[in-house]
Amino acid sequence: MTFSSADAQSLMEITARPPLYFVRGEGSWLTDDTGKRYLDCIQGWAVNCLGHCPPQLVQALNDQAGKLINPSPAFFNEPSVALAKRLIDASCFDRVFFTNSGAEANEGVIKLARKWGQKNKNGAYKIITFDHSFHGRTLATMSASGKPGWDTKFAPQVDGFPKAELNNLASVKALIDDQTVAVMLEPVQGEGGVIPADKAFMKALRELTREHNMLLIVDEVQTGMGRCGELFAYQAYGIEPDIMSLGKGIGGGIPLAAMLSREEVSCFEHGDQGGTYNGNPLITAGGVAVFDTLTAPGFMQSVQARSEQLSQGLQALSDKWGMQGERGVGMLRALILDKDDGPAIVDAARERGPEGMLLNAPRPNLLRFMTALNITEDEIKLMLAWLDEVIAKVRA
Ligand SMILES: *Cc1c(COP(=O)(O)O)cnc(C)c1O
Repeated sequence: MTFSSADAQSLMEITARPPLYFVRGEGSWLTDDTGKRYLDCIQGWAVNCLGHCPPQLVQALNDQAGKLINPSPAFFNEPSVALAKRLIDASCFDRVFFTNSGAEANEGVIKLARKWGQKNKNGAYKIITFDHSFHGRTLATMSASGKPGWDTKFAPQVDGFPKAELNNLASVKALIDDQTVAVMLEPVQGEGGVIPADKAFMKALRELTREHNMLLIVDEVQTGMGRCGELFAYQAYGIEPDIMSLGKGIGGGIPLAAMLSREEVSCFEHGDQGGTYNGNPLITAGGVAVFDTLTAPGFMQSVQARSEQLSQGLQALSDKWGMQGERGVGMLRALILDKDDGPAIVDAARERGPEGMLLNAPRPNLLRFMTALNITEDEIKLMLAWLDEVIAKVRA
């Protein structure tokens, strides 16, 4: 089917979509309805950690679909327990609850922290979050997010998310009162523009939350599952959080997310938490296939090598074009432009011929790179060369 303008009328208008269909994907490449190919540096917003349609994920879904799709979350199933055990063995956490999206995982995280506050801290419920943070698009997770304007968009907000400033410990301390139950942050703010939390700040947060009998929550929906060069980004900080949410890469493109907690914090009672599709064997079988690929010997070393290559390449482009440098952790990186032509670069890259490239500008002066973790050395070279070409064209 070739895209026609009438096709655009059937879906709710929630964003400006380019007038084309993507019809096939393989690794780092997408093909549209006219047969044009695109080098994909977005990968469904850091979701397809193994690229498009990785064979091991396709195989796992096919195998499981023929066996058992959904017995109901009221019963155990093998793939969900298999994936939970893998996550527990690889992390500092003891219990897992699977969800369908990152926002849903964070909703659960918020509920778990409030429940813990009811049981252990006189009903303390406030969770300190950060300016420019992003935790999802449900009412509670929008309220937790620090995106400018989100406090009035669907007012009234869900109460209890005072905002501190990232990497400013005093700003956190100033917000703590006897109703504060937790601090929640992304180890690297993704949507906010790829801004890492400092090591010293994260360590200090861990001490501060312990001192005040508060929980430390990491939202690793974007940073987890190898994106930052470790399986979980918190591991590079030398800290152990109390709760973590995962999403995006955990499913490699299929709707899977999770919240994890330490045993003492896992305090839900029957009826507190649930969800029709949560932990269904079809999707968690896919998660097992993704997990086993990410944790295979040598995989994370290759992610680190590619991230080094990408970082150096972006820095070289920045130097060449007089931009403001690059930043990020692992394969979550940003090129900081010297002007607001990010959206123009994104459009020109997509429209490039005969082959295009998909980029993302979360802010007008910033390009964010969220390629597949298994992108090849040659594909990164190509991406950098095309980026240089597109910048030249836009700035001509
Ligand atoms: C994408 C994202 C979410 C929301 O995940 P969805 O699956 O889109 O609901 C939450 N937190 C962070 C840090 C994210 O990057």
